[in-house]
Amino acid sequence: MFESAPPPAARLEIRNLCRSFGGRRVVDDVSLKIMPGQVTCLLGPSGCGKSTTLRVVAGVDRQDEGAVLVDGKPISEGALHVPPEERGIGLMFQDFALFPHLDVARNVGFGLKGPRAEIRARVETLLDKVGMRRHIDRFPHELSGGEQQRVALARALAPSPRIMLMDEPFSGLDDRLRDDIRDETLAVLKAEGTAVLLVTHEPAEAMRMADEIALMRDGRVVQHGAPYNIYNAPRDREAAAFFSDIN
Ligand code: ADP
Ligand code: MG
Repeated sequence: MFESAPPPAARLEIRNLCRSFGGRRVVDDVSLKIMPGQVTCLLGPSGCGKSTTLRVVAGVDRQDEGAVLVDGKPISEGALHVPPEERGIGLMFQDFALFPHLDVARNVGFGLKGPRAEIRARVETLLDKVGMRRHIDRFPHELSGGEQQRVALARALAPSPRIMLMDEPFSGLDDRLRDDIRDETLAVLKAEGTAVLLVTHEPAEAMRMADEIALMRDGRVVQHGAPYNIYNAPRDREAAAFFSDIN
């Protein structure tokens, strides 16, 4: 008899994560699993603990309890703390702007090591992916908000991260452009097979981008599932009200 193969480990697993500030638990026993190529949206009102969760996963903050695992391997648990730059995680944060004094090519190639020609080739490939190659010699101030966001995506993808953490990355963009950038970003990340944890306070954004939504409130994940299911069967009046402004 053959034993059946074990289920594949999640690309990113967050296990019973807790984080307190001044005696108040702002992340309270959060658990999530994200498979390669999947997008999970951490959705909830301002102050519910979304960014704190992301910061712990990124390694720029530490949990008080719980663990973070990549491909089944702990990167943060108890005394173990893999530094942010060794986690294989890409970041797109709201306040994570491009370097204003570097052109597009050097912004995207910033963290890459190796021969110049190889870095240049990699940068060109990435800029092709996000439709920005023709702007390779421009500086950030010569680009629109949407173009800057595309470059930021290319930069985040440069080290081939297995996981992308995004904290409200589209909130600075105007409405019409935002939908386009969301769709393009999603297409690029899906093509790369990246596991994505996207933080947003906008239900419409989560509905548009997520394979799964984790609805967060007061530090806890109160409902978790497919967008359609959560939208159609919110667990309580508060969750229903939160979704009610989508048309
Ligand atoms: P969200 O991203 O969902 O808006 P945050 O994770 O940024 O929420 O914050 C959750 C709560 O934790 C908020 O009440 C916030 O004020 C508090 N908080 C976040 N970071 C710190 C910190 N470094 N020190 C003290 N309180 C913090
Ligand atoms: Mg936040």
